[in-house]
Amino acid sequence: MRKITIIGGGQSGFQLAIGLLQQGYQVRVVQNRDAQDMATGKVLSSQCMFGDAIEAERALGLDFWTDHCPPVEGISFTVPHPEQPGAKAVDWASRLDRNAYSVDQRVKIPRWMAEFEKLGGRLVLKEAGIADMEMYAREDDLVIVASGKGDVGKMFERDASKSPYDRPQRALALTYVKGMAPRPEYSAVNFNLIPGVGEYFVFPALTTTGPCDIMVFEGVPGGPMDCWADVKSPEQHLETSKRILNTFLPWEAERCQDVSLTDDNGFLAGRFPPTVRKPVGTLPSGARVLGLGDAVCLNDPITGQGSNNAAKAARVYLKRILDHGDRPFDAAWMQGTFDAYWDYAQWVVNWTNMMLAPPPPFILEIMGTACVEPRLAHRIANAFDDPRDFFPWFADPDAASAYLSELKAA
Ligand SMILES: Cc1cc2nc3c(=O)[nH]c(=O)nc-3n(C[C@H](O)[C@H](O)[C@H](O)COP(=O)(O)OP(=O)(O)OC[C@H]3O[C@@H](n4cnc5c(N)ncnc54)[C@H](O)[C@@H]3O)c2cc1C
Repeated sequence: MRKITIIGGGQSGFQLAIGLLQQGYQVRVVQNRDAQDMATGKVLSSQCMFGDAIEAERALGLDFWTDHCPPVEGISFTVPHPEQPGAKAVDWASRLDRNAYSVDQRVKIPRWMAEFEKLGGRLVLKEAGIADMEMYAREDDLVIVASGKGDVGKMFERDASKSPYDRPQRALALTYVKGMAPRPEYSAVNFNLIPGVGEYFVFPALTTTGPCDIMVFEGVPGGPMDCWADVKSPEQHLETSKRILNTFLPWEAERCQDVSLTDDNGFLAGRFPPTVRKPVGTLPSGARVLGLGDAVCLNDPITGQGSNNAAKAARVYLKRILDHGDRPFDAAWMQGTFDAYWDYAQWVVNWTNMMLAPPPPFILEIMGTACVEPRLAHRIANAFDDPRDFFPWFADPDAASAYLSELKAA
């Protein structure tokens, strides 16, 4: 029986681990936090996952929530009017063909941890370091590092050719609330872009205390939404969240008259540079390990793709491992496995990095045209499920102009 160790039990680590167990592999997951610690700790993400990523979980029997998690049924996009306070310059919404869902990782990961152990997986609770990996590499056929933003992932060399930014592009904050007034008609990720200030998006989710809404703030560094450094308490965090909405997005503030935090750990602030790393790591002994998920492909959350990517990467890696049979997992196979994922992920990374830059005129034109062209709004909304569909028309002014003309002519 082939033996595989996975460092890091998060979205990608447990999804892959459970997929492997189901196929008869012997799997060890090394995780630095136990279920209780995760369930009662701070929120980690806003983890909104679209149809295809949900399907990847469902295929492994790991969707324990979509029958009671509040669905995200659409995407809306708004830009406040630069000169008329309280007015909107751009405003459209469209339904998703398949619902998206956000299940708090404090709910999901402990449940998956239990499932992993139930299926016979070996859970080792510890902070894995290089010496541990050396031991796992000696004992097992393959070591995969799925440690998310954990420091151990720095063993993988940053790939400058795939990482245009070397510093954080947004000051991030999450605020999990209950009591928000629902959006009329259908639920959605309400995405608001405030030029020069940042982005705010909000959507329904399932947390440890039941249904909630998750507010995500993406402040341009040094700007007025980069304002979390002096926030010292959960109450101050909620107040700051409301103050931002009152200042820039009155239509969102209106929904928040009666909000309160879901729990004292329902908030987060931080920042990190989006970074792609070379996927094959070499231990001091010369043994190789393979990176998975955020450990080697870390995106800014502005497009809400990290968990989606992690789920899709785990699906690709599972197939590659199964297809490889009894052959050795050498460096060429590892690189090929990441490349198979990168075939998809490169588009997500490109699109996400584009969204961090000030929007060029042709993007403003696309977003404005979507207000009057429902087919365009529908395509943009549904491309969150598969961002490859943004290319080339969302990346290239000529392709954008050709596509918009085609839409007008049709
Ligand atoms: C503010 C914010 C909002 C986000 N919103 C979204 C969103 O709406 N949609 C979306 O798709 N994505 C979103 N993401 C991204 C998403 O949460 C991540 O991309 C996803 O969780 C990555 O999965 P992963 O398996 O690579 O790593 P993780 O899920 O982070 O799992 C890594 C695990 O490894 C453990 N670990 C780390 N180091 C070690 C070690 N040395 N030894 C043992 N264990 C270790 C960690 O504790 C963790 O449990 C958001 C992220 C942030 C920060």
